[in-house]
Amino acid sequence: MTDKSRGRTWLINDSKKLEQNVRAFQSVLPNGTELMPAVKADAYGHGGVLISKKLNEFGVKAFCVASAKEGARLRAGGVEGDILVLGYTSRADLNQLIEFDLIQTVIDLDYAKMLKDWGKKIKAHIGIDSGMHRVGEFSSRTEEIADIYKIENIEITGIFTHLSSADSDNPEHIEFTKEQGRKFRECLDDLRARGCSLGKIHSLNTTGLLRYSDFGGDYARVGIGLYGYMETRAQLLSCPVSLNPVMSIHTNVEAVKEVKKGDAIGYGCAYKPEGPGVIAALSIGYADGFPRAMGEGVGEVIINGKKAPIVGRICMDQCMVEVSKIKDIKAGDVATVIGREGNAEITAYDIAEKTNSITNEVLSRLGARIERFMD
Ligand SMILES: *Cc1c(COP(=O)(O)O)cnc(C)c1O
Repeated sequence: MTDKSRGRTWLINDSKKLEQNVRAFQSVLPNGTELMPAVKADAYGHGGVLISKKLNEFGVKAFCVASAKEGARLRAGGVEGDILVLGYTSRADLNQLIEFDLIQTVIDLDYAKMLKDWGKKIKAHIGIDSGMHRVGEFSSRTEEIADIYKIENIEITGIFTHLSSADSDNPEHIEFTKEQGRKFRECLDDLRARGCSLGKIHSLNTTGLLRYSDFGGDYARVGIGLYGYMETRAQLLSCPVSLNPVMSIHTNVEAVKEVKKGDAIGYGCAYKPEGPGVIAALSIGYADGFPRAMGEGVGEVIINGKKAPIVGRICMDQCMVEVSKIKDIKAGDVATVIGREGNAEITAYDIAEKTNSITNEVLSRLGARIERFMD
């Protein structure tokens, strides 16, 4: 059941699964809330333009990204609708906001002053710190925040906050999250009383939407969930919607060679078979975002429907697997790094668990060298 090779190493997005995830999250949106998918970091590694244009087809009209350059790339690729830059845009990049029609986050009062001094007209949402202490102006400073609405060249079209611990079952964290919600609501009420026209309001990420949908808002900034994952497998157990991992990753078997007991495989002679074996070299390495910690027997790939352990150290551009139990393997075969072949499956959870990470990190670090497709 191997796919035919599409290049060196490639990633296939399944548009049906993406649509199922979109519909699943739409079905749990509060009344009046729309999706604003987080497509930062190249859509968590899936391919920003591919994913966002497909989401456009599914009726999605708003997106958020981390940087102006990410937004510019989406726009240049033909993505339509609002694109909100969640993070800091340095002066050097501010022109891109205008050139590519992006919405910038005012991350705090100092940043508002910088935008004011820059002087060119831009659209913006105000970021509010309701307890995370990353960026955002403190929710208590409503008098100063209200002044931002009076700055002529900054057209405020929305305001948002970010929940830091919405994924947690710890009662302390649940109370903390509710407190974030309260602080944000009080801030909004105060701003309204001061006559500010708030525009779009939003606070929910994936787990926020699933567990605190009563926070409401105009947008839910769903990221990881739309790609068919929670951060961890444990979170999946309490996830009320069914998720379909969107991506699979495949690579080529470059060469197959027989080795004998004591031969040294790869850098540092890190693997020496205890008897005769068969080694296959694959076209994926740590530069492709395949974690080096997956080497030396930790990780596996699927070839011809069977799992094969990675042996020796993962190289920058390649890795080696032990394939003596796999029949008829030859150069030109296709290996599956993430995905399913018959009954064998490897997910981003497997890689995350083996490398002390979370799916978000595993997916978003997939390298630029991997070719992305949408099927
Ligand atoms: C990344 C991010 C999101 C999306 O979070 P997920 O947990 O992936 O749904 C939403 N809002 C902000 C501010 C973010 O940085």
